[in-house]
Amino acid sequence: MTPAATRAGRERAPVTAPADLLRRLRSRNATDPVTHVEQVPARAGTPVTWPDWVPEELREALRRRGVEAPWRHQAEAAQLAYDGQHVVVATGTASGKSLAYLLPALSALLADPRATVLYLAPTKALAADQLRAVTSLELEGIRPACYDGDTPRAEREWIRRHSRLVLTNPDMLHHGLLPGHAQWSGFLRRLTYVIVDECHTYRGVFGSHVAHVLRRLRRRCAASGRTPGSGRIPGARGPAALPRQGGGPDRGPVFLLASATSGDPATTAERLTGLPTTAVTEDASPRGGVTFALWEPPLLPAEPADPTAGADLTQVRRSALRETADLLADTVAEGVRTLAFVRSRRGAEVVAAHARRSLDEAVPGLGRRVAAYRAGYLREERRELERALLDGDLLGLASTNALELGVDLVGLDAVVICGWPGTRASLWQQAGRAGRSGQEALAVLVARDDPLDTYLVHHPEALFGRPVEATVLDPANPYVLAPQLACAAAEAPLTPADLELFGTGAKEAVDSLVATGALRARPTGWYWRHRERPEVDLRGEGGTPVCVVESATGRLLGTVDGSSSHFLLHPGAVYLHQGVSYVVDELDLADGCALVHPEEPDWSTHARDVTSLSVASVRSYVDAGPVGLFLGEVDVTSQVVSYQRRRIASGEVIDTRPLDLPTRELRTVAVWFTVSPQALAAAGVDPPDVPGALHAAEHAAIGLLPLIATCDRWDIGGLSTAVHADTEAPTVFVYDGHPGGAGFAERAYGTADAWLRATREAIAECGCESGCPSCVQSPKCGNGNNPLAKSEAVQVLDVVLANLSDALRPVEDALRPVGDGVRPVGDGVRPVGEE
Ligand SMILES: [Zn+2]
Ligand SMILES: [Zn+2]
Repeated sequence: MTPAATRAGRERAPVTAPADLLRRLRSRNATDPVTHVEQVPARAGTPVTWPDWVPEELREALRRRGVEAPWRHQAEAAQLAYDGQHVVVATGTASGKSLAYLLPALSALLADPRATVLYLAPTKALAADQLRAVTSLELEGIRPACYDGDTPRAEREWIRRHSRLVLTNPDMLHHGLLPGHAQWSGFLRRLTYVIVDECHTYRGVFGSHVAHVLRRLRRRCAASGRTPGSGRIPGARGPAALPRQGGGPDRGPVFLLASATSGDPATTAERLTGLPTTAVTEDASPRGGVTFALWEPPLLPAEPADPTAGADLTQVRRSALRETADLLADTVAEGVRTLAFVRSRRGAEVVAAHARRSLDEAVPGLGRRVAAYRAGYLREERRELERALLDGDLLGLASTNALELGVDLVGLDAVVICGWPGTRASLWQQAGRAGRSGQEALAVLVARDDPLDTYLVHHPEALFGRPVEATVLDPANPYVLAPQLACAAAEAPLTPADLELFGTGAKEAVDSLVATGALRARPTGWYWRHRERPEVDLRGEGGTPVCVVESATGRLLGTVDGSSSHFLLHPGAVYLHQGVSYVVDELDLADGCALVHPEEPDWSTHARDVTSLSVASVRSYVDAGPVGLFLGEVDVTSQVVSYQRRRIASGEVIDTRPLDLPTRELRTVAVWFTVSPQALAAAGVDPPDVPGALHAAEHAAIGLLPLIATCDRWDIGGLSTAVHADTEAPTVFVYDGHPGGAGFAERAYGTADAWLRATREAIAECGCESGCPSCVQSPKCGNGNNPLAKSEAVQVLDVVLANLSDALRPVEDALRPVGDGVRPVGDGVRPVGEE
């Protein structure tokens, strides 16, 4: 909670000015790899006075921790919460979001000795960090405690009875607190604030589950005869620090959410909690200036491709990993403290190893100043590496993602980001590690050979303009809603009023639960019929999980969603667990287990599948003459048929091997467009080129969807065909890879104009001759990227955009979120089919 500026490492001599450093890095290349340089200006912090209701005891405790006064955004969010409004604070890395929620929460606990607060973090580790921070304030009578799967039984009862600040996670709320609500009724009755930290992580199917867990919590609070918020408790000490009024008509607890920077945080927060929420987004903490460069590795000369891969000629760029390793070595050689972010753990090791080698070649021994950092390391080891970097003993670190890093690791001189990290929020989180107050820093985004990365380094306005992506979740997904309603009914019978709480689709879901015998309808409500509680996993979604077992020892390493198992655990697959690499010997689908042995090959594996699709129903459509745009339910049948082995360092394809796995079915939501053959012919697309043109447009459209929704291209599948049995026209489908949909397709439908326009530009502006991984080739194409027709894809999209652009505006208006109507995105782990 301490502002970053007061925590910077020991003072050092000023390093090279970022602009000079960047000039030298660029000059080492024959062609200039930098496509854009953005100067992110320094910002002076805006401190304000403490709100008058913050007790002196708390002010004093914070002063002891180095916080003299709050920044404006902290005070603003705190005041809103104190006034009884649900609030989300969405600001950058190290901007002190925790103080924004701790001010009202701790003030309320100090003012009213009966009040309670619930804190939710996405992981146990974050809750533990927060517990340490609160405990260090040494406030009396609050008795903060973590309550999670690791909490010893003996301590649980004490926590339920005595702790007034319980720190937990949504899984524990779902599996522990809510089913045991009778034991928690005292705590819930006095619940004043619910803090939802890092709420941008609640997206996709997981986020949709969490949204209903929070509705279940609201329901139990309402039923507990909740009292706080109705006025001051007589005899309470300190100023009146209870929220002035309850949140809604039920006077439930006030929700305080904290999010990384993201598009439209208020809407996301409202979908998550079901409550009207005010957003605070103006960051008033101080920040050093950053020179931000967009870097595109050069194209390598064309060379014959792997003959088994399909295409005849392939043109690729120098690998982003190699480029990142060189940048890391070059900055370290200049004495600049640099953090490189790499997506995979193995990638981080490759970058560190390359950088070490080239530094040692230049100056023997210098390589020791570079290390790799990943989740597999013990917490102590990670903290030790962080300390070494802050102290300057270490100059370069190659790391996986920001969540693993300690919050104190800020104020570096340079950050190199290897590949688009998936969201603008993550980009700023990573770049936010660079720059201290009063000192300039350098950030470099290195593009991978991928359409979205390529688009972004050529469209800086998509990065440096206003946020483009929103966190998407879809509580109306029937595959989430029905199991959550079953959980709610097991906690207490459902009433018609509850259906309103759970939102769109709740009545249908209850009817389906009655039809399957899970619920019984009685005049007083809907009752859960079984003795055992329903088994619902918030994070799993794709059928029975497959166990990953080490053959030699029989040790269980972990589990993988049933739906992902064909992609990740097929025989020969390289499987990473806690930074250790394993190779799969056997996938036994009947037993639900995969046998693996430890092995660290220098290749990665990439499964491919083939897909067919049929339309089950149309939810909404736009008729634009020769062009149609649709949103609806589809049934997807897919089969993983082969996998590629690729060198980790270069991305070079070694070979493609066949697989023998059964087909699988998926009912999900898709967006699709059709174009009449006549319109295509009129636009100059010859009939033989139609399949390649549609296929190329489909690949690029999938690659660009993450631009408008916080998803990963692996969350989405696609299919294109010159004539589809259900549409009877040339068609491109893009579908959610999650049962019931995760909101991606719906988001794509709602922003089709922006999405398809960006897709068209990404293809048209790529410098390659006939298609490359930066534009129309897909890393997971089931057809080996064949056929692809690059320039014809642009013609197809021109026809589509010309006809749709007028018709689309009303669609975007109609899809603007209404109340709990809910929609959009998923979770980034699940590879799905794409033809
Ligand atoms: Zn290209
Ligand atoms: Zn394909």
